[in-house]
This record gives sequence, C-alpha cells and structure tokens, in this order.
Amino acid sequence: MQYSYTQLSQYLRCPRSYRYRYLDGWREKDTRAAMVFGRCFEKALAGYFSGEDSAAILFKEWGAYREVSLEYRKGDSWDRLVHGGVHLLHKLAQDDRVRVPHPEKDLQLKMIRSLSNGNEFIAYIDAIGELDGQPYLIDWKTTTSRYAEEPAGLLSLDPQLICYSWISGIRDVALVVFVRKHDPEIQYLKTSITEEQQKQFGQLVDSTAIQIESGQFLPHSGIRFPMNGCTSCSHLGLCLGSQHLIDSKLIRSAGASDLDWLDQFED
Ligand code: SF4
Repeated sequence: MQYSYTQLSQYLRCPRSYRYRYLDGWREKDTRAAMVFGRCFEKALAGYFSGEDSAAILFKEWGAYREVSLEYRKGDSWDRLVHGGVHLLHKLAQDDRVRVPHPEKDLQLKMIRSLSNGNEFIAYIDAIGELDGQPYLIDWKTTTSRYAEEPAGLLSLDPQLICYSWISGIRDVALVVFVRKHDPEIQYLKTSITEEQQKQFGQLVDSTAIQIESGQFLPHSGIRFPMNGCTSCSHLGLCLGSQHLIDSKLIRSAGASDLDWLDQFED
C-alpha cells in the first residue's frame, strides 16, 4: 500500500468517506473553479522560480479552462481569477522574500518513506528553498481567506506541515499563502516542528494504516452545529442515498489504482 497525506487526513476525518473514495472509487468531479485555478497557479509558480514568464504561464494554463463549465464562487469569474493571480505573482516578485536556488531539483520534490508491513508513504513537497534568507521547507496555498496567525505558535500544529517535516526530516517549515481576496495578499508564515511532533506523526501514520488494513470504515458523521463536516463532504449523497447529490458531485472511477490522490490543492 502507498499512503499520502491526503489519504491519511481523509481517513482521520471520516473512515467511511475514505472507503467511498479509495476503495469504491467515488471521487469528486473536477468542477470547482478554485481548485482548477490552484493547479494552474502552481504551474505559474514553478515557472516563476525557474526564471520563466509566470504570468504568461498562468494565462496559458488557465486559458485552457476559459470555455469550460466550472463552478465559480459568488463574485468570481474566469477574468477575476486570472487578474488576481497575476497580481499575486507580481507581489511575490516585489516582496522577493522567497528564493529557490536550485529549482531543477527543489520544486515538487517526491519523497518516499518506508512504513512497517512493507507500506510506503509518498509526499510531494512544493519547494525547499529560502525565506528571508533562511533555509525552509515551503508549502504554497491558494485560498480566499487569510490563514489564522493567532495565537502564537498555531502554525506548528498544522498537520500537513508536520507531515512534510516528518518525511523530510526538515524542522523549519513555512507556508506561503496566496490570498485571493479583493485586495490580494501573500502571507509568509514560518514555524518549527519538534522531533517529538515528527515522531508522533510517524506513530499516527502507522496506527492509521493498521486501521485501514483491518477494514475499519465506520462513518464519523459531523452532525453538530456549526461545524458539520458532512455538509462539505463530497460523499454526502452516498450516505443520504440521494441520487441527485451523487450525480452532481461525484464520478466513479475504477477503484483506487489511479494516482489522483496525490492532488493536494485545496481552496
Ligand atoms: S457524509 Fe458524513 S458520514 Fe458520510 S462519508 Fe461524508 S463525512 Fe462521512
């Protein structure tokens, strides 16, 4: 078995949803404009750090979706997204706080760690580079709202950063958050992950893999106001037996053999 952070977090959120996705093959349709745009923006970022014209790459990549029917958030449009994206790329260059000295080897790094029982854990790290002149493992995010910065130290609890720190052995990690709001903003958030956190994450991976392999897929429904995880779960239609919701949100593939679980862009 090969595991990824996306798989692990989906199991921890709701084991039943994991079973729908990775065993039964029900995956969300790729129709959310924000998610598709996030992938295009990531390609533009790779171009930026490789010394290419990142705005031109963004226009080219996102241009392929101009006539595609996507779901846009209220107030969003194809034009608005691309102009916001170009604004963010200019701001990144202006700020000049992030450097990737060796883009040919330090962007989208594939890392593999062996687990017990012959399993493997795979992660794709966005970049290993420098932030404000200091070495960091860096993850990018595109989002519509700012990441919380208070209370101090909150970022050190971010499970994805802990995961990347565990698999890479790098303790200094950072998030570069591209905030697509009316007045676009980039947050540069740094933290340090302890060896104890890395060790505990490894234990969490091992224990979760055991539960998955022993077939434990009970639903963890989230019916509590106001944080109801079921309302944002793409598998809600399966749990409710609603064909309308299934048809509108899901597409069924031939099981878990494809590699689209590697997608980790979330709006
Ligand atoms: S709708 Fe709720 S119970 Fe069903 S898979 Fe999604 S999170 Fe789990």
